[in-house]
Amino acid sequence: MDTIQVTGIRDLPLIRAGVDIAAMICERVRVKDGDILCIASTIYSKSKGYTKSLSEITATEKAKRLGALNGEDPRFVQAVLDASADIIMEHPFILSELPFGHIGVRAGVDQSNIEDGMVIFLPPDPMKSARELRDDINRITSINVGVIITDTCGRSFRRGQTGNAIGWSGFPAIRDFRGDTDLFGHVLKITEEAVVDEIAGFANFVMGESSNGVPAVLFRNCQSWTGHDNLYFTKDEDITRRLLKEQIK
Ligand code: GDP
Ligand code: MN
Ligand code: MN
Repeated sequence: MDTIQVTGIRDLPLIRAGVDIAAMICERVRVKDGDILCIASTIYSKSKGYTKSLSEITATEKAKRLGALNGEDPRFVQAVLDASADIIMEHPFILSELPFGHIGVRAGVDQSNIEDGMVIFLPPDPMKSARELRDDINRITSINVGVIITDTCGRSFRRGQTGNAIGWSGFPAIRDFRGDTDLFGHVLKITEEAVVDEIAGFANFVMGESSNGVPAVLFRNCQSWTGHDNLYFTKDEDITRRLLKEQIK
């Protein structure tokens, strides 16, 4: 049997700017070659100081307008606008594209699991962050693990948030089945499996969203896969993005 082992990493403290989360994780779990370590973007960002106090933020006219439109603090809206490369939808919530390609509700800016009046931004270059974490773990342990930085995200068509990968290192994002044959000999023409999101989704389930205190999850014994890293649609391919953007007056 192919048994995958999934372990939530407990006993990490509240993460503050300047701490070395790779070292903290390696002190609490013994990693093995081929393991996949999922880390919540929220603790990565807190460790790097990608946070801000609302009291330091001055809302622009646009932030005031969107704040009134959606019933949100204009300073929070300003944080969302500052984190966004492009606004895809303004109402009933802001949906925006981040500079690194991810599209997320409120640009992934969080007000939970941090002190009152503070916001947490997604890391600006999560692919680089995942690579650095992987290198850090390798430097500490001489072990080669894969890393996924996760965030809880909303989605279209279905209720309920799920974990998504926003940065990864050590394997391709997508397992490409195109050209494979199914059980009946049909050649698969379309199927590309977003493996990093599937793993991030299960990691998110183990983490929980509130006071669980499990910001990292280790996967052992996942089979390896081949494919590519083009997780995000290009602007031309992304029909939903185009149609939503047309709605903005
Ligand atoms: P996000 O999905 O990356 O936005 O992060 P969440 O706020 O949903 O938190 C994911 C998990 O990490 C939950 O189990 C939280 O309780 C936990 N968590 C968040 N911040 C910290 C922290 O500073 N220390 C510890 N130990 N756990 C945290
Ligand atoms: Mn989040
Ligand atoms: Mn979450």
